[in-house]
Amino acid sequence: MKDQFDYDLFVIGAGSGGVRAARMAASKGKKVALAEERYLGGTCVNVGCVPKKLFVYASQFPEQFHSSQGFGWSQSSQPTFDWATLRDNKTTEIQRLNSIYESLIDNSGADLFDGRATVLGPNSVAVNGMTYSAKVILVATGGWPFIPDFPGCEHAISSNEMFFLDELPATAVVVGGGYIAVEFAGILNGLGVDTHLVYRGANLLKSFDREMSDKITAGMQEKGVKLHLNTQITSVEKEAGLFNVNTDRGETISSGLVLYATGRIANTSGLGLENTQIELRKDGSIPVDGHFCTTEPSVYALGDVIDRVQLTPVAIQEAMVLVDHLYGRGEAKIDYDNIPTAVFCQPEFGTVGLSEEAAIESYADIAVYTSDFKPMLQTLGGGNDRITMKLIVDKASDKVVGCHMVGEHAAEIIQGMGIAIKAGATKADFDATVGIHPSAAEEFVTMREPTR
Ligand code: FAD
Repeated sequence: MKDQFDYDLFVIGAGSGGVRAARMAASKGKKVALAEERYLGGTCVNVGCVPKKLFVYASQFPEQFHSSQGFGWSQSSQPTFDWATLRDNKTTEIQRLNSIYESLIDNSGADLFDGRATVLGPNSVAVNGMTYSAKVILVATGGWPFIPDFPGCEHAISSNEMFFLDELPATAVVVGGGYIAVEFAGILNGLGVDTHLVYRGANLLKSFDREMSDKITAGMQEKGVKLHLNTQITSVEKEAGLFNVNTDRGETISSGLVLYATGRIANTSGLGLENTQIELRKDGSIPVDGHFCTTEPSVYALGDVIDRVQLTPVAIQEAMVLVDHLYGRGEAKIDYDNIPTAVFCQPEFGTVGLSEEAAIESYADIAVYTSDFKPMLQTLGGGNDRITMKLIVDKASDKVVGCHMVGEHAAEIIQGMGIAIKAGATKADFDATVGIHPSAAEEFVTMREPTR
């Protein structure tokens, strides 16, 4: 019998989750449409993970130039930095990735619509003046930066604009205490900008292990970021091409840029979800069940818009689980426990499992192993960076329930630790693993005596 719908699946948003869902569903022979209003690859590719990491690399060179001298290198002149070269090379690379995404979507057989889609009803989507029916609609519209309302908020920019600045300022104020704020503070500082980080709370990265976030805070200060904790911005005024940033502590910071990284909200405004039975949460995000189904049985949602764990690999895995549920065996599952993650601040942070604070809440008795040392590069390189590692063990089962690292290559190292912890490795398994010498990572298998 001929299907009564134009599409089996209509995906709104070609970001991390939407592209994966569309391609996988199309590969299973389904008739798929994918609408994107802005840029293929979504936040991660265009104004998130990828360009940010390129900027992080750029910002680390001054320390590398400095370290190289202890290893016998000298340069005949001081290295100089050109922002426009970095910005434009980054944009060229992103355009290359955009076209790879376009080919992947084309080759999958999905129909790509370049336009903003709106939901007209449980099985109906409008895009570019046309209306299409779909058996299933998937909302994968991601999130958007949120700048609070305050006097002078129109002078603040979000992380979106950071990637396209005309010029790098001499001084910058970054506002926020989450991962995007600390990452951009590190980038700006590394690129030679006099960087102030203003945060209303007492602790940066507050959802992570406190000992680790304290190390990061100290490390950022050591590298030159000027921290203003327990401080709120009261107003921003423009004066002679600069911004006077006033705080509730009576300070005024004169700055060429004010970056607000104080949160993101679900991208659901004007999407037409009122034409369905979906009731959004107060913050605009979409509630879904264990199969990513909304309260409208034909409409599903995943990724940042459902406000669970806002990471690219999570959105991608959710997409694979959903396609398996809709068109496969329905066996795939996503486990939100023990998701390894990194913050590309400077010093870098990698983490998987429970913080010490959460482990104390969850287990009757834990053992904490820590190690803090100078990385080998610093011995001749002469920097002040350190590496801190931490393992948290449930004493009853001997399972390692938390693994954290601050310092060089933390993200790369923690990815492997993530597999061990996901597999339920015990401290005895860590102890029985032979280290790789000389490496920083070997410390994770040589911590013998608990610190507490
Ligand atoms: P998105 O990737 O945001 O895609 C949604 C897409 O939907 C967008 O392209 C949007 O234009 C489109 N859209 C919205 N509404 C419509 C509509 N009505 N019609 C058509 N199209 C529409 N995650 C990590 O894992 N690692 C990192 O290092 C990392 N760094 C980040 C750094 C920054 C500065 C930011 C902002 C985010 C970062 N993230 C990182 C988070 C990551 O980018 C997101 O978790 C991920 O992109 C979410 O994917 P998604 O598919 O849910 O949404």
